[in-house]
Amino acid sequence: APRSLSGMQPTSDSLHLGNYVGALVEWVRLQQTHDAYYFVADLHALTVSPDPEVLRERTRLTAAQFIAGGVDPQRSVLFVQSHIAQHTELSWVLSCLTGFGEASRMTQFKDKSAKGSGPNVGLFTYPVLQAADILVYDADVVPVGEDQRQHLELSRDLATRFNQRFGDTLVVPSPHIMRETAKIQDLQEPTAKMSKSAASDAGLVSLLDDPKRIVKKIKSAVTDTGREIRHDVVDKPGVSNLLAIHSALSGTPVAELEVAFDGRGYGDLKTEVAEVVVATTTPFRERTLELMSDRAELDRILADGADRARAVAEATVRRVYDRVGLLPSS
Ligand code: ATP
Ligand code: MG
Repeated sequence: APRSLSGMQPTSDSLHLGNYVGALVEWVRLQQTHDAYYFVADLHALTVSPDPEVLRERTRLTAAQFIAGGVDPQRSVLFVQSHIAQHTELSWVLSCLTGFGEASRMTQFKDKSAKGSGPNVGLFTYPVLQAADILVYDADVVPVGEDQRQHLELSRDLATRFNQRFGDTLVVPSPHIMRETAKIQDLQEPTAKMSKSAASDAGLVSLLDDPKRIVKKIKSAVTDTGREIRHDVVDKPGVSNLLAIHSALSGTPVAELEVAFDGRGYGDLKTEVAEVVVATTTPFRERTLELMSDRAELDRILADGADRARAVAEATVRRVYDRVGLLPSS
């Protein structure tokens, strides 16, 4: 079977609706047809200087949420990035193939460094580590949100470049991006993407929030002037975002929702979106809490995943080290 691979950073306690719709739902679906690898990107999370205890807790919480969302650790390989040393080993080799100008063009770095206080080098080389995450497992398909398209393109370029220079070694991955309605925007600032590390929490729907809080946030979502309910990201970003959320979770096409809400007000739309969201988050939250109540079992699942992941990653790095001319140690 073709291989799929993806990760999420443990940069907050809870995943948000964008992570769910833009990635996790697709991860779960791909388990049916693919040899799937999913990981908690704790090394990536170091770029935002988290408190050590908080990072450790969020790493477990993030893994628990993958399982709560439907990742099956028996069927898929579920692991923590830092447990596999080969990610950083391959990352170094790839960074020596990456142009400085090329890395400077990455928009996530520009966005994140504009927000934070003094970006570090890790944030700058983040896309190279991400390329290593993907290439070290010979992944064919990488399900990510629209925001990661540019990074995926870099991974493809690096694999191609490596192969041209050293001979066929790395699999060139394909992006697997759910477009349009898979990109969820901030409820208060619907022209910006919903993000775990957003400055304000008001526009963020966290999956572990209690239902009351979720309903309140959706009811106070920014809409647009006018009263028409239609999908138009330019003129009606707020309403379009609510329609996208509804559609993604209910499975109803946006065009059908437009017909169903014809002549009705924004209040009705928000009420229904809130219902649809809570129906998803309630069982998700319960399952996550249940998994977190047995840390030993969770850690055991992650150790098992690491063993399976390592076997693949070791073989790739051995191949790569040999190709680039590093002297074997034995
Ligand atoms: P951070 O702000 O710390 O970068 P994030 O919210 O962007 O957090 P990540 O862990 O970086 O989350 O990304 C995990 C996955 O979720 C990626 O596949 C990414 O494309 C997807 N994703 C993140 N935000 C959104 C969004 N608003 N809509 C759709 N998909 C998203
Ligand atoms: Mg992100």
